[in-house]
Amino acid sequence: MESFADLIDRLAEFYGPLPLPPADPFGFYVWEVLGTHTTAGRRDAAMAALRRIPALTPDSLRKVGRGRLEAVVGQCGPFVDERLVALDAGVDVFRRQRHFIERLRGPLRQAWLASRDLPHLGHAGALRLLLFTGDSPNVPVDAGMARTATRLGVAPSQPNLRRLTRDVRRALDKAVPREPSARRRAVLYLHHHAEHTCVEASPHCGVCPLVEGCAEGQRNVRPDVSL
Ligand code: SF4
Repeated sequence: MESFADLIDRLAEFYGPLPLPPADPFGFYVWEVLGTHTTAGRRDAAMAALRRIPALTPDSLRKVGRGRLEAVVGQCGPFVDERLVALDAGVDVFRRQRHFIERLRGPLRQAWLASRDLPHLGHAGALRLLLFTGDSPNVPVDAGMARTATRLGVAPSQPNLRRLTRDVRRALDKAVPREPSARRRAVLYLHHHAEHTCVEASPHCGVCPLVEGCAEGQRNVRPDVSL
């Protein structure tokens, strides 16, 4: 099997440059809320609309009228109400907690505890926030990344999602250099790949750039060949 760094290079060549999430914690939170259960294109269109208003700070977002915000959030597709609730809750945390951003950018343990104050982010989302807006070395692994990593043989598959996520995190921790920019790049492409090509049902193995080294992909594109 080729090295994990080679896999990421292959994904980067296939997808081309991907936009990085905002480096400021509030912008990142909005990006996460808008990017859940939708495509990157829809998320980016909604982010661009907020940037144009402009409404990418807690105070400016709070001032946007409900109808206008609904129209922006609606660009992401379904879950409009859930996204609006999550944005409201996030705005509250960023506005009410003094020194919240300093806590997020503080020592790792303190940053982790602060990130857990943000609602609707989840474990992997909180780790993503700390990786992309700070220097956390922890690799965030969500269900999609765990699925792709096991299909690729990075970690063995197993039914318990919590244990699977832990095993994949450990495997990626060894496979990806600790340097934050290398980890951000690996997570960005692996996450994008899991969301757009290596999807849960019927992955698009026929067009996947990793199919040659992927046992699951080989089974899917050549079902008559036993491996
Ligand atoms: S070949 Fe298929 S299963 Fe393997 S990584 Fe690509 S999309 Fe996923």
